Order: sequence, then structure tokens, then C-alpha cells
Amino acid sequence: MKQVPITGVFKKALPVLETIQEAGFEAYYVGGSVRDALLGKDVNDVDIATSAFPEEIKKLFKKTVDVGIEHGTVMVLMNDESYEVTTFRTESTYQDFRRPDSVTFVRSLEEDLKRRDLTINAFAMDQTGDIQDFFGGERDLDEQIIRAVGKAEERFNEDALRMMRAVRFASQLGFHLEADTFYAIVVNAHLLENIAIERIRVEFVKMAMGKYVRQGFTGFVETNLYAYCPGLVHARDALENFAKVIEPIQRERQMWALLLYYLGIQRGKEARAFLKNWKLSNQLLNQSADLHQLLLYRLHSEQTNETVYRYSKELALDAETCLDLINQPFDKKAVENIDAALPIHSRKELAIDGKIVMAENQQRGGRWLGDAIEAAERAVVRGDIANETAEILDFLKKNDYV
Ligand code: ATP
Ligand code: MG
Repeated sequence: MKQVPITGVFKKALPVLETIQEAGFEAYYVGGSVRDALLGKDVNDVDIATSAFPEEIKKLFKKTVDVGIEHGTVMVLMNDESYEVTTFRTESTYQDFRRPDSVTFVRSLEEDLKRRDLTINAFAMDQTGDIQDFFGGERDLDEQIIRAVGKAEERFNEDALRMMRAVRFASQLGFHLEADTFYAIVVNAHLLENIAIERIRVEFVKMAMGKYVRQGFTGFVETNLYAYCPGLVHARDALENFAKVIEPIQRERQMWALLLYYLGIQRGKEARAFLKNWKLSNQLLNQSADLHQLLLYRLHSEQTNETVYRYSKELALDAETCLDLINQPFDKKAVENIDAALPIHSRKELAIDGKIVMAENQQRGGRWLGDAIEAAERAVVRGDIANETAEILDFLKKNDYV
């Protein structure tokens, strides 16, 4: 049996485990933190599972918060940290291929681990670093295999999101889908239609930004899962091309912009409709759609004062990164230089404003005013005129804006 040294976050969380154990209950580290520790990766937060019921946990600690008590999760605050402590539970009667109708708290660790998705996510580790492995997870880690806990077909019928999770982990870890797990996804891929887009999106994003995206996308495409994701039904080739990015994508908006690019979408309206179907937040949707437009522009033109001003330096740099990722010529230094030399970075820095222009023209505001300020802004950004009140007013006069 493997042992993991109790250091870092595990050590910090030790008093939580010990307090629960001293009260006569079982407590273990579980889930992704144990998987990552066994893989030798950095672990930033731990999940704790226990045989104690939520009310019992609340009695043991001074400060707790009910974060999901109906699911058995209590947040314990200790030494400036917070820990999610979840009671061992089973889940029953999945009626609609997603989340259980009810959870039942149990006192058995094995029962709890049985309801987890993949063997590599179904470890428990005690306070000494001893690993409990009921489903061959350690062997699968060694052999780099993604395998459902128990009967894959049943597990995917209970919660279809697990299929997305399987390919997501293949992409993050570079593991292979075990044959039964693979075929169970092929057969059940359509059940993904029952899953909320927001939950699918979380896994999709992690997959598309995975270190081994080519491997992850191979599973995603070959199992047909992709066909049940928003806007991807005809995207087989696009996804295969997307997966050739030369390095893992670091920023979510870059991922969406590149995906739109490979989908062959050109029009901003179409891009937004696609992103809307994935239910992105407004901010991320706007940034991704803008980045996509800038990327398309950059495939045939250079960055200019106007692109850097309009899209911002950050987005302009992201466009260069996107070009790099798809093996096209890119130039970050040019963006830095343009930005450093930009006469203004926002309309607020313009040496005129509505009031000044209205006074000059002795006229109330209206459409003409917006047009005038926009023209002045453009001329200043392009460097055609200096950002000085007199010079701008002169320019506006010459061009019949005032
Ligand atoms: P990450 O490092 O990306 O957070 P994780 O494995 O910790 O990966 P979480 O979504 O945080 O993933 O879930 C924590 C644990 O809960 C998983 O390791 C797994 O044991 C279990 N789990 C999560 N989602 C499911 C699911 N849909 N079905 C069954 N078990 C799940
Ligand atoms: Mg996690």
C-alpha cells in the first residue's frame, strides 16, 4: 500500500481529521487531493470525508458554516483556513440521468467511495498518509487509465456528467479511457442532453485547456460525446484541428476564441450566439467574442494604435498568444510598443469632452456630439492630431463637426 507524506495542506488540515477521530468517528482526505498527491502534483485544497453526521461535526468545532448540509457538507473554519467536511453518503434513485434525488448518510467509507466517478478519484487517505483503495485506483494511476468505479454503464446512467469528467481527466492527465468505460460512453453519450449546460461547461473548459488536449479530444470525439454539446454537432474536424494547439491554453477566453476560429465562424453575431448557448457570463462572452474578431483580423493585418486602443492591451496580447498557439506569426513586442506610445487609453483622457464641444458650438447635445467626439477620439488615437483642446477643436471645425 502506498503512502503519501503528510505535508503542506494535508498537514495543515490534520487537526480537523484528528478532532473528528478523537470524538470516535472516522475521517479521511478524499477526492482530487489524494489523486494529485499520488501523482506527485501540488495540492492546494483538501476535501475531507467522515462517518460523523453534519450535526455531530458542528458540535465538534467552534466555527462552522452550513454550506450544503442537505448533501452532508459542513464547512469547518480552523487556523484561518476553511475545510469542507462531508459525511459519507450514498446517492439513490437517479431518475433523470443527473444528480441524485436523495442522498443517504452512511457510516461506511467504502459505501461513500463506491458512488464516486472514477477509480482515480475514489481514494481515501488517513492521517498517516495510508491510502485506502477499494477499486484498483492505484493500478489505474500507474497504468494511466481512466476507469469508472463499478459498472461504467450504470454509473453513466446515474449521472451522465461523469462521461464528460472521464474525458476531461484524460485531457488533464494524458490517460487512456479503459475499454468498458469507453464503450459505455459511446452507448450513453446521448444522455448528456439531460445535463445542465453549466455543469458540462465546467468539464469542457478543463478538457479544452488540459495539458494533453489531443488525447482528451480524441476520447471526446471518438465516443461521440461532442455531438451532444452546444453547437458542436458538426464540429468533428474543427475539434480535431483545435486539439493541435502547440501548447496548453492558459486562459479561458483564448480557448473560446480559438474554438470559434476552428469552427470557421466569422460573424460576431454568430460567435456570440454560440457562446450564449454555452451560457458564458456576459463579461467572458464579450471578451471571447472580441478576441475572436481580433484574431481573425490579425490573420491578415498588423496590430495598430486603433486595435490596441479599442480592444485593450490585454486582449491584443491574448490575440498574439492565440496566433502563437496555432503556429502563426505573432508579435507581442509590437503590442507593448504600440500601447506604450498610445496618446490616450480611454475616452476620459481625451482633452475635450461633451461640455467643451457644446460650448464651442453653442448647441445642445445630440447625435452630432457623439459623432464629433468619436471623430476626435479616432484622430487622437491614430496620432493624426495631438491630444490638446485647441488642436482637437480646430480639427472638429475643419471637418465640419462644429
Ligand atoms: P479537480 O482537481 O478538478 O477539482 P476533483 O476530482 O477534485 O478534480 P471535484 O469536482 O472537485 O473534482 O470533485 C471532488 C470529488 O468528488 C471527485 O474526486 C470525485 O470523487 C467526486 N465527484 C465529483 N463529481 C462527481 C460525479 N459527477 N459523480 C461521482 N463522483 C463525483
Ligand atoms: Mg476538487
